[in-house]
Amino acid sequence: MREITARELSLNTATLGPARSLREAVQACLRHGIGGISPWRDKIAEAGLDNAARMIREAGLAVSGVCRGGMFPAADAEGRNRALAENHRAVDEAAALGAACLVMVVGGLPPASKDLAGARRQVADGLAATLGYARVQNVPLAIEPLHPMYAADRACINTLGQALDVCDTLGPGIGVAIDVYHVWWDPDLDAAIARAGASGRLLAYHVCDWLVPTRDLLLDRGMMGDGVIDLRRIRGSVEAAGYAGPCEVEIFSSMTWWPKPPDEILATMVERGRSCV
Ligand code: ZN
Repeated sequence: MREITARELSLNTATLGPARSLREAVQACLRHGIGGISPWRDKIAEAGLDNAARMIREAGLAVSGVCRGGMFPAADAEGRNRALAENHRAVDEAAALGAACLVMVVGGLPPASKDLAGARRQVADGLAATLGYARVQNVPLAIEPLHPMYAADRACINTLGQALDVCDTLGPGIGVAIDVYHVWWDPDLDAAIARAGASGRLLAYHVCDWLVPTRDLLLDRGMMGDGVIDLRRIRGSVEAAGYAGPCEVEIFSSMTWWPKPPDEILATMVERGRSCV
């Protein structure tokens, strides 16, 4: 299978850990020949939006996504409206950065609620309301289905097929971000990837690995090649479905990778891109 070059990788800023600035991430990408970046909004806010846009533009980096919008369900109308306003700001930031998409982590159950179907209705409503604005701003929304273990607190869209069903009800301007960490276990994954490609909804591809054992629900993702995900097979499906964008590396790893210097993380990323992704 064709090897992924550094140019075809994108650095999700979460991979360097919370202590690193956007400037450090951009400079590390330049040193290692990484072609793209996907900033989290807290890093954009730290740098300032105009400054962030200038830094990324001057470095010649493609913006494979902005993380993130979503988190729609709330206990009351005021909370839902707050979420919508926040999503409008996220769309504005993605537009200013010329991002390929705004990644949507849609949210889970409101506090003390057990109404999962209701939360999913709130998500569909929130996406519909945000999509109207995103279309005007020319920012594609990318629903990222999250592993079912996050259904309560982070995202109640949990499979690629479920995300595509939502997309189909909403029409153009919205698609999916496929993150291998969340979907690798799905017996219907290949069919859903093909469906995403056929409907023009395959907007982003995130890679890392699933470690055995996983020591933390959130912060123990593996470097590509260190876990059990058949990354090459999944990339084969994604490419067969027509995806030609970057492989975005997104590794939340508080114990293993975040303590390491950025140059070690990026050098490993590039090497694993060639050998494992
Ligand atoms: Zn992701």
